[in-house]
Amino acid sequence: MERREIYRELGISEKVYSLGERTVGKLKDRFERIDAIAEYNQGKILAAMRKNRVDAACFASSNGYGYNDAGREKLERVYADVFHTEAALVRQQIVCGTHALTVALSANLLPGDELLSPVGKPYDTLEEVIGIRPSKCSLKEYGVTYRQVDLLPSGGFDYENIEKAINEKTKLVTIQRSKGYQARPSFSVGKIGELISFIRKIKPEVIIMVDNCYGEFVETTEPSDVGADMVVGSLIKNPGGGLAPVGGYICGKREYIDRCAYRLSAPGLGQEVGASLGVSQSFYQGLFLAPTVVAGAEKGAIFAAEIYGGLGFKVIPSSKEERTDIIQAVELGSKEGMIAFCKGIQKAAPVDSYVTPVPWAMPGYEDEVIMAAGAFVQGSSIELSADGPVREPYCVFFQGGLTWYHAKTGILTSVQEMLDGKLINID
Ligand SMILES: *Cc1c(COP(=O)(O)O)cnc(C)c1O
Repeated sequence: MERREIYRELGISEKVYSLGERTVGKLKDRFERIDAIAEYNQGKILAAMRKNRVDAACFASSNGYGYNDAGREKLERVYADVFHTEAALVRQQIVCGTHALTVALSANLLPGDELLSPVGKPYDTLEEVIGIRPSKCSLKEYGVTYRQVDLLPSGGFDYENIEKAINEKTKLVTIQRSKGYQARPSFSVGKIGELISFIRKIKPEVIIMVDNCYGEFVETTEPSDVGADMVVGSLIKNPGGGLAPVGGYICGKREYIDRCAYRLSAPGLGQEVGASLGVSQSFYQGLFLAPTVVAGAEKGAIFAAEIYGGLGFKVIPSSKEERTDIIQAVELGSKEGMIAFCKGIQKAAPVDSYVTPVPWAMPGYEDEVIMAAGAFVQGSSIELSADGPVREPYCVFFQGGLTWYHAKTGILTSVQEMLDGKLINID
């Protein structure tokens, strides 16, 4: 049985299939390096699980207050060991990445404090959290001011203005590793380390938080290895390995994590409470699988970059560049292009493959957003998904894929949709 036959059954024409095969041929060395990183990270996670003597009792469910939930407590020690931090808060009561970031910020910023983003505008949903866009319960409403230093036109850090922006009020610095919905580069762990060293020289006691969403396990180190006081992310992205049904994490220094726990539950209660309700096994098992899942997603991203770059679209990053996250931006230049691309991704999904994605006004986002996602876990973007705000330059952000094969199928299906819509030519 030839592979091309199963692709034909999936609606992929001979032309698109061949383009895919030629593309994979060019990426062999790159894929080998990704596998080597996954192997390293697999070992790192295994070592943390062995050290903490994870056993079947860890998967037991708790309810009510969730006192003495040994599995939940041990999982947090495993996360702390994987990220090389003193403490970790890993909870399904953290409803998403934005919530995890909100907890980390609001727990550690008090009235009169200032928050600084030295890497330009943060992720869209944080605009209301911070109060860049007015919102009830924003940090601004609570008397926390915000300062931002944009990146240089080259995409680099504007050290001169960062130095000027740090003042006696600056309490916390937030650094976003991944580009999010922006056409800027994502920052490698090494680059983040350089920025952290620079900031520490100016103000040693400032708290440095990294929004680590989409970055986990793409490299062998994490921002917490290069001086970040807190790293924050979502369990329905990389570290949940596709199995976590919900949740978020914050890993970092004990004093900051304690405050996060008090903010998440209540002052005085902290980390002692929070029923696990039977999800612990999926958290452990998802973390265990995360390096392989992330590797598959990364291969998909590079494959997309190589194909769409070859078709003449601007892709960020290119298929040659080193990566620090699983996001691939493709500038399609038109609303029609975005819709066709997302239609293809949706068609290739294991769940809701018959649905047609359309742009809609999503809570927390300023512009209309189009999303393709046929996921086992709603909104999970470690699963194959594509989305983007429908605005200039009509850039679609593609990420995830629980397996490389599925990511590949999704991209080929998107190429097929573009071809059928006469939006591209393939010779
Ligand atoms: C996804 C993401 C968030 C927010 O996560 P949600 O789970 O969607 O709330 C924040 N920052 C970055 C960089 C992200 O990619």
